Amino acid sequence: MSTSQATFSEHLQFKLHDVKLKAMGYGLKLMKIRHTHVLTGPAAMGELAEKVAQSELKKALIVTTPGAIKRGYSEKLRAALSKYGVASVVYSEVIPDPTFATVRAGLAVLKENDCDCAIALGGGSVMDAAKAMIVAATNDKPIEALMGMRKGKNVPLPFYAIPTTSGTGSEVTNAAVISEDITHAKRFMIDSRTVAKAAVLDPSLTASLPAAITAETGMDAMTHAIEAYISKLSNPESDALAIAAIKGIFTSLPICFKDGSNLEARQAMAKASLTAGMAFRKVMLGYVHAISHQFGALYGTPHGLGNAILLPLVIEYSKDTVAKKLATLAIETGLGDASNTQEQLAQSVVDKLKSLNQQLNIPTKLTGLKEEDIPTIALRSYAEALKIHAAPKYMGKADIEALIKKLL
Ligand code: NAD
Repeated sequence: MSTSQATFSEHLQFKLHDVKLKAMGYGLKLMKIRHTHVLTGPAAMGELAEKVAQSELKKALIVTTPGAIKRGYSEKLRAALSKYGVASVVYSEVIPDPTFATVRAGLAVLKENDCDCAIALGGGSVMDAAKAMIVAATNDKPIEALMGMRKGKNVPLPFYAIPTTSGTGSEVTNAAVISEDITHAKRFMIDSRTVAKAAVLDPSLTASLPAAITAETGMDAMTHAIEAYISKLSNPESDALAIAAIKGIFTSLPICFKDGSNLEARQAMAKASLTAGMAFRKVMLGYVHAISHQFGALYGTPHGLGNAILLPLVIEYSKDTVAKKLATLAIETGLGDASNTQEQLAQSVVDKLKSLNQQLNIPTKLTGLKEEDIPTIALRSYAEALKIHAAPKYMGKADIEALIKKLL
């Protein structure tokens, strides 16, 4: 059993967070989240274009990357829109972990061209940048001032998403993660009006993902599902979504990693990623995300990679607190049966995450991690966890430091 080294004053802060979580839990329960029309199959992009036209929208800002242009995805979308009489303009400069500067640049293109909606064509970075643009487009405030809980008074422009990674689920989440320009610290916009009106899940768009990005983004989806499943705010609905996503990832991610052209497995991963997004959007996440965000800010660690490395360690730390739930998950996913003890079943989930990481060539150490940075990383992770997450077992700063030291 991992015994927490939290101090007396940290324990007091945990108690305070529990009270805050109760209130946040009620708020999230009541939060209305729009239904996203999920379009699949070879004609899905055309169907999305038709939906945009049916909403009487005239000019779309396509938010994307140079890679999506090179692979011809952007032209395909422009042609589909044009067929339905919708004009389009492309902003293609989104970088991984987009900054406020990225959002400002895209917003300028949107405004110059009088676009009346945005379509994200890319991974989580593209979808999040586009979400921030549609909020800033109708709210005349610096983008920085729009971060936090629903800070835009006016309704954002309509938003559509075509994910080209299977990991973040951002097409259905109420969150957008934008990094500060200089420090690269991650800031969060929470606004249920940024959930996509419609999303295309087309496996032919993720087939081009290299094996390493397939693995990292896939483990990001896994982290969403597991942190949602063990969240203090979890409920039967989020549990069912999380278990469905975990099952899908256990089956399909190793196939996608080995054979990126397997479209059936790619489709299953796209669905699992979306399902994991639906699982966590009302119940929040935990220490894997709190710590991984700091790795991204300090070292530019890809979000999914940071999550993947941390996931087995954080679950191992939390195991005794959520042993019953992990045991249920183990049985649901075929890792064990009623003949095993609860402790064995819970451990089997940790072991499975470790072996899956190994199969996917995820390292057990973090490249670039500096020992002298660990106290700062721990301090910032500690603060983030007590602001926006709902982890089942609290970690004091010393616990976080001890966990990060394992990655040296
Ligand atoms: P990403 O969007 O940064 O993409 C990773 C890399 O893959 C990029 O270089 C990109 O150009 C490339 N890429 C994308 N699609 C490709 C394709 N089909 N073929 C080849 N290359 C492709 O990665 P991501 O993991 O999807 O998103 C990470 C971002 O999302 C982080 O900033 C993270 O904080 C954020 N995030 C947001 C949410 C949310 O709910 N809004 C949830 C989780 C993570």
